Formats: sequence, C-alpha cells, structure tokens
Amino acid sequence: MTLELCTRCGKCLSTCPTYQVFLSEAYSPRGRLAFLEAGLHHPSFEQCTWCEACSRTCPHGISFPLLYFEYLLKNNFKKFLSLPFPFERNPFFLYETFKTKDDFSSLTVTPEQADILIFFSCDVKNFYPRALKKFLLFLQKQGKKASLIEEGCCGIGYLITRNFEGLKKQALKIVELVLKAGKEIVVFCATCWWMFKKIYPLILENSEEVGQFSEKIISAYAYLFRECPEELKVFSEKVLFHLPCHLTDERKAFKYNLKVEEFCCGSPRFPLLKMGFPEKYQKFWKKKLEGKDYLATFCIGCYLNFKFHLKEPPKVVHWLELLC
Ligand code: SF4
Ligand code: SF4
Repeated sequence: MTLELCTRCGKCLSTCPTYQVFLSEAYSPRGRLAFLEAGLHHPSFEQCTWCEACSRTCPHGISFPLLYFEYLLKNNFKKFLSLPFPFERNPFFLYETFKTKDDFSSLTVTPEQADILIFFSCDVKNFYPRALKKFLLFLQKQGKKASLIEEGCCGIGYLITRNFEGLKKQALKIVELVLKAGKEIVVFCATCWWMFKKIYPLILENSEEVGQFSEKIISAYAYLFRECPEELKVFSEKVLFHLPCHLTDERKAFKYNLKVEEFCCGSPRFPLLKMGFPEKYQKFWKKKLEGKDYLATFCIGCYLNFKFHLKEPPKVVHWLELLC
C-alpha cells in the first residue's frame, strides 16, 4: 500500500465518519492523503478515528491511519504527543488504574497445560470480567483449558502518544511470549485485535515472527463459533450487536450466526471529543437503538464511549456477557 496508488477518485469520502460530520475535504481520507503526500501536517490527522472505513471502500485498500503511522516511523518521529490525558503519564493507565476483584484461578491453568491463551486485557480485567467468566465456563463445558496472559496492555497507550519505542518493546514482549507458548491467543477487544494484526506488523517491520504471531490471534466470539457452532448461543432479544470497526475484518468468521450492525461509535479519542465529534456523529446511528434494551459491543473504546454518551436504556455490555 503506497500513497501513489490514490487516484483521488473520492470513493472513500462517503464512508469516512469525520468527512460525514465536518463535510470538508481536509477531514476526508482523500484530503488527508493529499496533505501527507505534500509532506504537510494537518490537524485532521489527529482527528482521524482510525476506523479504516477508507481502506474498506477504496479500490486499492488504502488506509489513511496505517500510511500515516508508516510515515511517522520512516521519518523517525521522536516527539511524544502532549495530551491532557492520563495516557501521557502512563500508557498502561487503563490496565493499572482499576483493580478487578475477580479471581479466575480456579478456571485457568498454566500456559503449558492450556489449549488456548487468553489476552487478559484492561477491558475484561476491569470493565466486563463477567464476559471472561462466561467464556471460561463455556470452555470448561467443552473440556478445554485456558491460560490468562497478563502482559499489561496491547500498547494502544503508546500509539496514542506516538511513543513508538515503547510500543516496539511491548510488541516484542507479547510476540515472544505467544510464540514460545505456541498456541492461539484469544482477545476480547477489537482494539487489541487491530493492534496485534495491523500495528504490530508495522512496528516490527513485517518480520517472520510477527507474521506467525498474527496467525495466532482470534477474537473470543470467532473462537467459540469455530469450535462449537452448534452450542454457541447469545441472548439476542432486544439487543443491538455493534460490530466495532477494528473487528470488521473478522466478520466473515461469524456473519451467518449473529446479526451485527457496523458503525463508528464516535471514537473515544481526545482530539475528537474536544470537537464534539461523538455527539455530532450520533445522528448516523442513534435510530438503531430504538426499542433496544442492550447495546452490546466488542471493544473497550466503543464500550466507554457508549457508556459516556448514552443514558440507559440501553444497557451497554460486551457481546459475551450475553452468552447463554
Ligand atoms: S480511518 Fe476512518 S476517520 Fe480516518 S480517514 Fe479513514 S475513514 Fe476517515
Ligand atoms: S484513498 Fe482510495 S478511494 Fe479514496 S480517493 Fe484515493 S483511491 Fe479513491
């Protein structure tokens, strides 16, 4: 994927959430790419949601955020972004600030004894441990054993602050650990999935190891659907299942089993919050919630954004909290 492939056809404009709201070429993938090609930085770069809707509609699969990160890496970008946000002080902020009281030791084993690994990310640890518990009980019924991998964080905080050195160290640690165990690793968050599948190859320069690691990543839902499609049932009455943009590539793994709606949550990123983007973007999806008791998602960013911007009902949950 290179910048030169862009023919300026404009097919990406209609699906770009920031273009839909601000209706300005500078906030479209095409406009951002034109600035990037000219070597110019525009504030809209930091107001991109990283949804990659552009790559899914572009005939050449061009993704603005991936090209932008590649550009920063190539140009040896060193300055960390200064954000009025706790991530700046501690990229593991979400992971470390809250402490879950849930103990999963009776339902898990060591990595050597396990059939699969589970990435114990900040979301399942702190916000919806019930989803993990249901998943583990389901596995137990199937006679499968799982081990929790507690390696801190996928590294999204480093990416937000553009601390590429920190991100590289974290990525190397996780890749090495998973390859050493030689097992699949299940994730509960679309952002972890995206970091592992899209950002790690960028940061680790498409090494052979990162390619092998990437093949071992699977979402918790796709794993259950592959392993026990007959038994997998999720409570679905009056639920809107939201498919986060960073899990869209996995959709084909379950699309006949679950009716999901694809839309951008509005992004919880600070530069977009500051512009009131999540509230402005709601007009594109709020109607979908009519008559729903639950809004189920699969990403910590979307989960927090929905919690922050919506009044109950609907109750915001993770998909697997609704596992029957
Ligand atoms: S990643 Fe999303 S917000 Fe950013 S340019 Fe592409 S479509 Fe627009
Ligand atoms: S990014 Fe792709 S869809 Fe958008 S203008 Fe360029 S070639 Fe067309």
